Amino acid sequence: MTGASGQMGREVLRETLTLPEVEWVRLLLTPRKRNDKLAKKLKKKYGGRIEVVRGKVSDRAACAALVEGADYVVHMAGVIPPAADEFPERSEECNRRGAVALIDAVKACSPQPKYIHISTVAVYGGRNEKHPFGRVGDPLLVAAYDRYAMDKLFAERYCLDAELENWVILRETAMLHPDMMANNISDGLIFHITPNSPLEWVSARDSGYLIRRILERDHAGEVPTFWKKIYDVGGGKKGRETGYDTFDDGFAMIGGSTEKFIRPHWLAARNFHGLWFYDADELEALFSYQRDGVKAYWQEIAKGHKIYALGRLVPAKLIDFFLFRRLLRHPNSPRRWVEEGDRARVTAAYGSPEAAAALSHDWKDYPLLAKGDFGDYDALRDEKNAVLLSHGYDESKPLERLEIGELRAAAAFRGGECLAEAYDGDPYKKLPWRCHDGHLFETSVYTVLKGGHWCPVCHQPAPWDFDRIAKFSPFVAQVWYDSHGKDEDLVYDLEEGRPTIRKVGEKA
Ligand SMILES: [Zn+2]
Repeated sequence: MTGASGQMGREVLRETLTLPEVEWVRLLLTPRKRNDKLAKKLKKKYGGRIEVVRGKVSDRAACAALVEGADYVVHMAGVIPPAADEFPERSEECNRRGAVALIDAVKACSPQPKYIHISTVAVYGGRNEKHPFGRVGDPLLVAAYDRYAMDKLFAERYCLDAELENWVILRETAMLHPDMMANNISDGLIFHITPNSPLEWVSARDSGYLIRRILERDHAGEVPTFWKKIYDVGGGKKGRETGYDTFDDGFAMIGGSTEKFIRPHWLAARNFHGLWFYDADELEALFSYQRDGVKAYWQEIAKGHKIYALGRLVPAKLIDFFLFRRLLRHPNSPRRWVEEGDRARVTAAYGSPEAAAALSHDWKDYPLLAKGDFGDYDALRDEKNAVLLSHGYDESKPLERLEIGELRAAAAFRGGECLAEAYDGDPYKKLPWRCHDGHLFETSVYTVLKGGHWCPVCHQPAPWDFDRIAKFSPFVAQVWYDSHGKDEDLVYDLEEGRPTIRKVGEKA
């Protein structure tokens, strides 16, 4: 396992070690003091069942030592936002190069261990009330300047193209854990969440339980069709909320509410990430892991952390003043970008500086999914009522039964071509493709049609070029214009790590 010291990792480790058939678990822990303590504690508790390799996940020798002789490799290590925003080089090292090093190490083993790759809902990019539901195969439109998602997208593609014998990619949704509040009230990141961002929460506890169930059922030979697929990991209907009511649940712990503590214009209007998963039931059917509901989980956190009760004794005005007004000034807060005239980030988050200035300061003018302004909220959260995106082929057919003409049409739907002369029905065999811009690449039918991946050059930010791509890719256009105008023609880019913006066609 990598990432065993994280919120999800902790749960995965605990759950895995309850299985008597697990002889040992080998962990990769980075060389830092906190991990010395953790290693000692784990050794004491689990004895010889725990082995520890020290090193970074980007360290190839450490990866080789980690996976040697293992039956399964679970890759959970990640540098997540806000750290990924603040220290992009750490994100690049862990999320990108780390995944590459680990996947290469798995590939070099004989026999190969089965590889479980933890990815993220963030690869889908921003959604709103127009298409709150998504699923595997939807376009991957990483939000502008989202370093974490950009590196995770690269890692996913590397895994898909590595042709491992047994792999699985789990796109994890937003994860609830006991330190949720504490970890997120020191950074402007919380204001990136838009009021109508669909968020489907799953608890870290259930995510850990899921991995245990995978190991358990796979070891027993009960899930022969599980491998070589991408899955969305969500909490199901009882985990579905939006940005607005998620804030409400969190603030309720300290006696507040969204409207008490937050003004609508403090929050971004687009360019976050989050989805309700139309297909989370696929994993649920195999492993029945969705036990926690979002509301009950928050109550449990409140009970476990008595400190939150203190918050209820503090007048809301003080919390507002000392906490949220202070957070608004944080360099990662959209309001700070507006004040400082950061045109690139303001445009990404609001559409334009003018749009940011025009946003109402009053909740009563802001149409909200959670308040029923777009229809019955409860009904809208039911996957039966989902409005799905097209993937450009007849999904009633399994990938094995598609004809070459159907692959060509699916490529055209993405603005490009499938250059193969024939298709033998193996969705994992690499075929040649060409994107609209003429980049040639080889990848599998599965990667394109079920992964939602496309050209590794122009669909792999940065630069974020989707205003232009949407003009010739109906696949992208069907969701891009939910939050972007057809008249927008901007390229979002990074220059020496700094967000920039330019017109399509202008030189970088
Ligand atoms: Zn391309």
